[in-house]
Amino acid sequence: MPNKSNPICAVITKETVEAARAAIKQAASEADLIEVRLDYLKDFDFNEPKNLIHLLEDKPLPVIITCRAVEEGGHQQISDQIRLRLLVEGARELADYCDLEAAHYEEATKLAPDLSKLIVSYHNFVETPANLNSVYENICALPAAVHKIATRADSVTDSVETFRLLDRAKREGRNLIALAMNEPGLITRLLGPSHGSFLTYASLRRGSESAPGQITCEELRHLYRINHLSLDTAITGIIGKPVRYSASPAMHNAAFQALGLDWVYIPIEVDNTAEFFRRMASPASREMDWNLRGLSVTLPHKISVIDSLDVVDITAQKIGALNTVVIENGCLKGYSTDAQGAIEPLIKICSLADESCAVLGAGGAARAVIYGLIEQRARVTIFARDIEKGRRLADEFGVEVLPLERLKSSDAQVVINATPIGMRGHSEQKSPVPRATLAGRKVAYDLIYNPLDTQFLKDARMEGCQIVSGMDMLVEQAGLQFKLWTGQSPPIDLMRKAAVEKIEANLL
Ligand code: NAP
Repeated sequence: MPNKSNPICAVITKETVEAARAAIKQAASEADLIEVRLDYLKDFDFNEPKNLIHLLEDKPLPVIITCRAVEEGGHQQISDQIRLRLLVEGARELADYCDLEAAHYEEATKLAPDLSKLIVSYHNFVETPANLNSVYENICALPAAVHKIATRADSVTDSVETFRLLDRAKREGRNLIALAMNEPGLITRLLGPSHGSFLTYASLRRGSESAPGQITCEELRHLYRINHLSLDTAITGIIGKPVRYSASPAMHNAAFQALGLDWVYIPIEVDNTAEFFRRMASPASREMDWNLRGLSVTLPHKISVIDSLDVVDITAQKIGALNTVVIENGCLKGYSTDAQGAIEPLIKICSLADESCAVLGAGGAARAVIYGLIEQRARVTIFARDIEKGRRLADEFGVEVLPLERLKSSDAQVVINATPIGMRGHSEQKSPVPRATLAGRKVAYDLIYNPLDTQFLKDARMEGCQIVSGMDMLVEQAGLQFKLWTGQSPPIDLMRKAAVEKIEANLL
């Protein structure tokens, strides 16, 4: 067992022995132990356990060997007799542990395994079954050093059962690896070890995952700093769907680390906010023991989340949507930092009082921007493709609405793009308006932050406008969240650097 707390286990899924040897060496600097998935190897003679010598002779870390049956996720058909002999003898002579399925335990015991090196596992790739406690009891009845239960999560609340098992194993003094696979189960991979899981699995590189929902050793160690997490660590995160590629974990975790705070920020894929709050977040009803202190809320939950909170701040009430939850003194309080986050970058470069401002689009981001502009006493016109939808928003805030094509004849000095036109993966080379429409305006502001320099901003620069990027809003609103949760001033420049790096890394 490695002496680091919350050990990271790098899973090697190479198809040749030489590639696996190289990956084992590489894992030395990124993980605390290594699992070699023998069933991925295509040039290995499974009949001969001695062949493991060449594979493992220079192992820099403790090694688990496994060779899965196809019905438990294995990559090739190998007879059970050959697999089990390889694992049992391999662990006896060379590896630190072998992992074999509970369903083959009886057969394996005939080979006299070293029980101090045995991991007995149960995988369910279909669901997290309702009778998880019986699964645990059955598996724990099989003597071994470590027991493992990996099930598929379809909802983040399936993780509650996984954390319950970890609590139980801790009370009973057992070594248990428990995790929920799939995107909604990511929370168990991140927080499982601090709740007692014997280890957490990770891939060496993006694209070489051995199970759904797995992330890389590098992310676990440096982004989430899981070797430092404990039950006392204050937890924050982002709820929404999708959340995996959000830049927010990079920004907030960099800020926590820079200020030396025992806090972490994690992505939490949530479908049903009411169920998530009831079972996992609300201090009055949650079934999970964790130091949850705050949440960012993103699409599609910015409105629906309101019903699950105890108090909603007046700005968020007026906007009709929120992006931040603070959990304090047993109470869930909602805020919106979107409006102030959107306006701060603008007021740094121009006065908005009585300024004519055009907002392109009539969705959620437009709503927050319009609120912020009105607070600054700007004159606002919404330019929308769906004039009826635009009119509903305009009436709510008492502003004007016009069709998008009418921007060219407007006197707006500040033009704000609150549509997704120009976004990477959506319509990157496009702008919501022809370039000539921007001639003579003072400021062009694109709420899009990926790419950093949109076609709309490129056109505006050519027309002599001052430009503001959506990255400024992204960082401002995150900084305000950071302040609400921790009470400390956010290290804004560092957060920006982390967000830009994350967005660039997502392109790789
Ligand atoms: P949303 O609620 O879906 O609203 C999008 C708006 O754009 C809607 O009014 C929609 O019109 C309009 N639209 C979409 N496609 C269009 C097209 N082809 N032509 C004309 N109008 C079109 O989205 P949102 O949450 O407001 O987000 C809008 C943008 O802001 C996104 O790019 C998002 O990344 C960005 N954003 C940035 C930040 C930040 O921190 N920088 C924060 C939030 C959002 P209909 O009403 O007719 O559908």
